[in-house]
Amino acid sequence: MLRNETIRARKRWGTARTITLTSDQDLLPTRNFQEATFQEADSLSAEVLEKKFWIKHKACHGCPVNCGKLGVVRTGAYAGTVVEGVEYETLALMGANCGIADYEAVAYANMLCDKYGLDTISTGNVIAFTMECYEKGILTKEDTSGVECRFGSSKALIELVKHITFREGIGNQLAEGVKRLAEKLGEKAEKIALQVKGLETPGYDPRSSPGLGLAYATADRGGCHTRAWPTSYEMSGKAPDGTVIDRFSTVKRAEIVKAQQDYGAAVDCLVGCWFVRGTVGKELYAQMLNAATGIEMTVEEFTRLGERVWNLVRMFNVREGFTRKDDVLPQRFLNEPLPSGVAKGQRLTKQQLEQMLDEYFTLRGWDKNTGVPTKEKLKELGLEFAVLQ
Ligand code: SF4
Repeated sequence: MLRNETIRARKRWGTARTITLTSDQDLLPTRNFQEATFQEADSLSAEVLEKKFWIKHKACHGCPVNCGKLGVVRTGAYAGTVVEGVEYETLALMGANCGIADYEAVAYANMLCDKYGLDTISTGNVIAFTMECYEKGILTKEDTSGVECRFGSSKALIELVKHITFREGIGNQLAEGVKRLAEKLGEKAEKIALQVKGLETPGYDPRSSPGLGLAYATADRGGCHTRAWPTSYEMSGKAPDGTVIDRFSTVKRAEIVKAQQDYGAAVDCLVGCWFVRGTVGKELYAQMLNAATGIEMTVEEFTRLGERVWNLVRMFNVREGFTRKDDVLPQRFLNEPLPSGVAKGQRLTKQQLEQMLDEYFTLRGWDKNTGVPTKEKLKELGLEFAVLQ
C-alpha cells in the first residue's frame, strides 16, 4: 500500500492536502458556496500546517498510513490549543466557507467541536449560512444575539460554535441545522440553504463535478461525499473503464456513482477505511473476508453484497416516506453559475440532474418515476422481505 503515490501523499499531508487542489479546481466551498475558489487557500494549506502546527502523525489502530495529524497552536490568541487535524472538511467548511483564512482560529473552533461533540461539516455549513443571511439582511444583529456574523470573522465563528453547543440565543435555531433554520427564515433563506435531505453539504461544489451532484442527491443520508466521489474521474477526464469523459458533462456518471456506492457499502460492511479502498481493491477485500470468515465469496458476490445493502437502505428510506421527489439538490447548485475559477459559468441544471437520475434508477432496476426498488429487483437480491405490502 505504501508504494502507492496517493497513499504516500496522504501519509505525509493527511486530508489537509486537498484544500489547495479543490480551490484550484473550483470545488472548494467558499462563503457559503457563493464561490468555489478561495483566494487565501494557501494560508490553510498542508504545507503551512506542517511547518507551523503539526507535531506528530496519528494512526487508527494498526494502520501504516498514519493519515491523522496532531497539532498545537503555538502563538497568538489561541496558543495552547491542541487538536487532531485540521482535516480537509473542517478547513473547507469552517475555514473557506466562512471566509476565514486563519488556521489557528479554525483549529480552535475544531477543538471546541470535538469537545462539544459537534460535526464540523454541519457546524461550518450552518455558520456560513448564518453569515450570508446576516450580510443579506435576512438576519439582523438583534437576531444573532449581538454577534457580528460576517464572513471572515473568526470571532463570529467561535461565538456561534459556543451558542450552538449551549443552544443559547440564535444558537438554539442554528442547532436545528440549515434545513429547519431556512424553513423558518423563509423563501430568501431557502434559496441559499445548502443541504440535501436535511444534511448540510460537505466540502466539494458539485457545479464543477456533476457526478458528485448525483451522488449527493441519491446518498441515503443526504448531502454526503463518502457514499460516492466520482470527482477524481471527472478531473482526470477518464471513466474507470478508460472511456474519455468531459469533466462537465453527465456522461457515464450514473454508472460510476452506482458502482462506487455499491463497492463502498460492501467495504463499509468490513469496517474498512474509505481512504484506502481504491488502493486495496475489491479482489483483496474479498480474499481478506474469506480468510477471516471461511466464507467462499467471489468478487462478484462481494460487490453484490454492497448492492444488497444499498437496496435495503433505500427501502428503509422509502418506508420513512423518501422517494425520487427527495433526490434533489440545493437551489444554488442548480440556478447560480460559479462566478470565477476554472469552472466559471458552470452550474448543474435541473434537466441534467433529472437525466442522470433517470439513468441511475434504470441501472439500479428501480422504478424511474418514484425511485422505489421494484419487487423484481428485491427478489433478485434475496430481499423479498423488504417488499412493502
Ligand atoms: S485507517 Fe484510514 S483514517 Fe485511519 S490512519 Fe489509516 S488511512 Fe487514515
